[in-house]
Formats: sequence, C-alpha cells, structure tokens
Amino acid sequence: MSLSTHAEKFAAPRLDAQGRRQLIGLPRAELEKIMIAEGQPAFRAKQLWNWIYQRGVKDFDSMGNLPKDFRRQLGEKYVIDRARIVTEQKSDDGTIKWLLGLSDGQEVEMVFIPTPTRGTLCVSSQVGCTLTCRFCHTGTQPLVRNLGPHEMLQQILLAKDFLNEWPSEDEKQGRDLTNIVMMGMGEPLYNYDNVASALKICMDPDGLGISKRHITLSTSGVVPQIIQCGEELGVNLAISLHAPNNQLRSEIMPINQKYPLEDLLDACRNYPGLSPMRRITFEYVMLDGVNDAAEHAHELTRLLINIPCKINLIPFNAWEGSGFSCSQEEKINQFAKILENAGYDAPIRRPRGRDILAACGQLKSLSERLKKK
Ligand code: SAH
Ligand code: SF4
Repeated sequence: MSLSTHAEKFAAPRLDAQGRRQLIGLPRAELEKIMIAEGQPAFRAKQLWNWIYQRGVKDFDSMGNLPKDFRRQLGEKYVIDRARIVTEQKSDDGTIKWLLGLSDGQEVEMVFIPTPTRGTLCVSSQVGCTLTCRFCHTGTQPLVRNLGPHEMLQQILLAKDFLNEWPSEDEKQGRDLTNIVMMGMGEPLYNYDNVASALKICMDPDGLGISKRHITLSTSGVVPQIIQCGEELGVNLAISLHAPNNQLRSEIMPINQKYPLEDLLDACRNYPGLSPMRRITFEYVMLDGVNDAAEHAHELTRLLINIPCKINLIPFNAWEGSGFSCSQEEKINQFAKILENAGYDAPIRRPRGRDILAACGQLKSLSERLKKK
C-alpha cells in the first residue's frame, strides 16, 4: 500500500458528530484561508490561535476580541473542543494516565510523568500500531487508525487544562508541563504528516511555544522518515534499538527485516543537527535471558561507535501474556557498567506508573483489553 493510500485508509475523521470542522490542528495558513472565505480579515487566524493555544479557551463565545456575530457564525460550523476523559488513574509515584475518547468513539491513552525538575507528557500518535514488537503491549492491538494533528494537540491542551497552565488573573500560571515525548501508542513516523503538523503548532511561538529541545520523537526505526523528521522538525530523536545485532533485533522487532541496523544507524549518523550537545537516545529494553548478556553489551559498544548518543536502559515493563520477564537488577547494573566503561552514558530508567499500566509499552485502549477478556 502506498503511503498516501495508507494515510487515507487510516485517516482521522475531520468532522465531529454534528458535522462541524475541528479548528485545532489547522496550519495557520489554512486557517487564514478559512477566515477570508468567511469574510473576515486574515489576522483573525492569529487571534484564534492565541485563544486556542495560549489561553486554552474551549468555546468561541469567550473570544472577546472577535465580533459577536462572527463568534456565533464560527460556532455553527466549527469546534475547538477536547477529547472526552474516559478514565483517569493516578500511580503511587505521581504518574497520571488518561484514557481519552475521540470523536468517533475510538480511544487512546496519554500519560503525564512529573519529576522534581520537569513534567513530561507522553503523547500517542495512533490508535493501536502497525508494528508488532514482541515485548510491547500496544503492538498486540492492530492499527485502527492514525490520529489527526488535532487529536495529538488535544492531548497536550487537556494536560494543560488539568495542570491549570493557562494565564488568568487570579490563579498561578503553572509551568508543570515542560517536555513532550512522542512515545505513547503508535509509531509516529508511520503517521508522519499528521505528527509533523501537530509538532509544528506545538513549537510555533504563536502556538504552544514549546521548544524543539523539549520535544522527543521515539521511533522503532522507520528509516525513510528519520532524516525528514530531523530536517523539518529538528526535534530530539530516540531510537528503539533493543538489540545489538540484526538477528536478535529481527526476532523481537519485525521492522528490522525491512530496515536493518546498517540502514538505521546510517540514518542516525546523518540526523540533522547531531553533535555531542545534541545526541540521539537509544532505548534498550532489558529482557531477561534475551538481550541482556555481557556479550550483548560489548556488541552494542562496537555498534554505536562514533555516534553521539546515550543509551537508556529500560527495565522491561511486564504485561500478561508477553512471555518475557525483566532482567535481574544486577544484570542491568553489569550491562550499564560495560557501556559506561566504553565511554557511553547509560542511565537506567526508573520505571514510572507501572502499577497503573502506564509505563513504556504497557499502553493499550482499556476497551480493547476488556474486549479481550
Ligand atoms: N513506536 C515508538 C514509540 C512508542 S513505544 C517506538 O517504538 O519507539 C515507546 C518506547 O517503549 C519504545 O522505546 C518501546 O520500545 C518501549 N517499550 C515497548 N514495550 C515496552 C515494555 N514492555 N517495557 C519497556 N519498554 C517498552
Ligand atoms: Fe509499535 Fe513502538 Fe510498540 Fe513497536 S514498540 S509495537 S513500534 S508502539
């Protein structure tokens, strides 16, 4: 299937149940065209962006600087709403996971992970995933559809609502949400155009104004889109590596048969803007008896030589029926030591939100889980 046929087949709905068009997620130029078609000056687009992304307004009525008639006119044809919160779960460690209901009844999860120095929102890009990485819970849910730009931005807007981050006269303007990671459900580079549209608005100073330095996109290794992502978006890149050779990687990540390590690492070496100050993150999930031997660590040190990077060691987050278990702590420490001795930064990532199945690779629509039961 060609990329455009794929995009069409799995497209997000553009209209809500009442046939109104979503204005969240439209590029500014397109919004300007709509304004002109509605008989308004183009600068209304900038005013709308300000209300939507900088003030968090959810209805046209509150937009004080727009003519009253025009506000009514907008409300008849357009929306700027949020996804519905189906469930909200809080972990003992402060991580919060939401299951969101989309306008067509589909569901996705998003996760907020607070630490003393930053607040990270883990955003989903698809309902389900085309890929079937063996250790990943999301990978057991077939791709239902792509998320549209508005559905990714709605996740961020919702988190800002929750954290009370919109300016107002009497309340504090929090800055709890500092970082965005495209690491929720789905493979963002298999939904590149929509992800790019959403992230452009996210980074635009007139949009959400979140710096590209604070945004990380994680991919299982869709090689053709990696360079494009670096050139057009310039966000931080994380690669789900998980194995130091093609044989093992193909076993646990079937995408490796299409884009083997040589091609993947070539794309990494050529990632625009790469330098010791702007490193690639390689993610490596620690699977007991599978990829955690000392020899694997040595192989990894040779594989990544000369790529400015750090290696995040992720203790495997268990889920029922996966057939994997997490490596012993001591094994993980030894693995890290070998990498560190070879000069790599190899932090061991502390799992967050495991008790509510919010940790990496545990996300899946709740409805899908219930269906299976
Ligand atoms: N599809 C993208 C982004 C979503 S997955 C990707 O694969 O990179 C986010 C991260 O969680 C990836 O590094 C993924 O490999 C990792 N992951 C998946 N399942 C996991 C599990 N059960 N335990 C720990 N990490 C997991
Ligand atoms: Fe999809 Fe990423 Fe999970 Fe692989 S690890 S199945 S690419 S979400």
